[in-house]
Amino acid sequence: MKNVVLLGSTGSIGTSTIKVATDLPEHIRLLGLAAGGNTKLLLEQTMKHRPEAISVRDPEDARLLSDALGTKTKVFCGDEGLIRLATLPSADIVLIAIVGTAGLAPALAAIRAGKDIAVASKEILVMAGETVMNEARQHGVRVLAVDSEHSAIFQCLQDKPASSVRRLWLTASGGPFRTTPKEDFDGITLERALKHPSWVMGTKITIDSATLFNKGLEMIEARWLFDIEIGRVQVAVHPQSIIHSMVEFIDGSMLAQLSTPDMCLPIQYALTYPERIGSDRVQTNLARLGTLTFEEPDLERFPALGLARRAGELGGTMPAVLNAANEVAVAAFCRGKISFPQISRIVRHTMDQHRLMSHPSLDDVLKADAWARAEAPRGASGS
Ligand code: NDP
Repeated sequence: MKNVVLLGSTGSIGTSTIKVATDLPEHIRLLGLAAGGNTKLLLEQTMKHRPEAISVRDPEDARLLSDALGTKTKVFCGDEGLIRLATLPSADIVLIAIVGTAGLAPALAAIRAGKDIAVASKEILVMAGETVMNEARQHGVRVLAVDSEHSAIFQCLQDKPASSVRRLWLTASGGPFRTTPKEDFDGITLERALKHPSWVMGTKITIDSATLFNKGLEMIEARWLFDIEIGRVQVAVHPQSIIHSMVEFIDGSMLAQLSTPDMCLPIQYALTYPERIGSDRVQTNLARLGTLTFEEPDLERFPALGLARRAGELGGTMPAVLNAANEVAVAAFCRGKISFPQISRIVRHTMDQHRLMSHPSLDDVLKADAWARAEAPRGASGS
């Protein structure tokens, strides 16, 4: 039985995690649940799963929840609430599924309290991968991947060191604009960008999947999770999203992990690792699928991949700058303030303006993040 704290329980990953916990009551106990503002769903989840403690963003919401739940459930709030949950004494593993970088402080708090972490929020590894992985090594805890691509690589690697790997192959569906001509990119609306061909996800990651920044962030995430230089992390477009990623070993052998796309599978694997527990939820019929295809990504229509590779190669504060500028640009696109192609222009502008620090402390990374958030809006006017 694993005692699980789930940060972001009301989101797309969060609700899939609740399904997994409901499937496996003998293996997973939800000890803590944190949400942002969706108190109605959090209350329902709390009544059903009876966690020891919960947390919400707003103190007033926390007071209302506390009144509704009585003394059996502790109710925390704000950034401090996330840390209280992440360090609950009986927690075994903390799953971080809060969108953006708000999960960084609770992730570090969990590691320092000796908890394994399962990371869905790739932004925290992009921003502070070196710190997170160093702290995890020092405290002897695991950092387990929830992203389907990294879960696939983890399952294929089976603890083989980076020295036995020629390349890691991240697969990408290509998103809704895989075949859209470049001249039509200016007219892409939010509504069209939110229609992902194979996955149903939260808003930010769905836009990131349309620009391919999601794959760029995943390249940097893979670099840290598997301790491998970014030059050996490659991307193959695979529109069917059945192969979730592959490892090419130094002898030329390639191993891949396949299944119909369903985030419950990588979530379950992370929460029950190193065991494999039976579940009928995910079924894959290859004969019915028929064909699996692969393409090279188009770096001209999708500049995100080149920008992410550059940030990953430069290292230091640059990945945090890429990530923060992208968050600002995606939010502006969602508000209708900028066009779709401006997202990558803003990120490029912000990276070009940044004075790189090669070996930053966590504080330096946070400063670079804040600097990029202030600089990014100036990139909206560039071409
Ligand atoms: P959603 O937008 O669906 O959910 C975000 C969750 O975070 C919600 O529960 C939200 O609460 C909560 N939240 C936001 N801010 C705070 C805060 N300050 N304190 C506490 N909770 C907060 O996102 P996704 O589930 O899609 O994605 C989460 C992360 O997982 C992202 O980093 C994404 O890149 C990654 N990921 C997602 C995948 C997917 O399939 N969706 C796949 C792989 C990775 P509320 O709704 O109550 O405001």
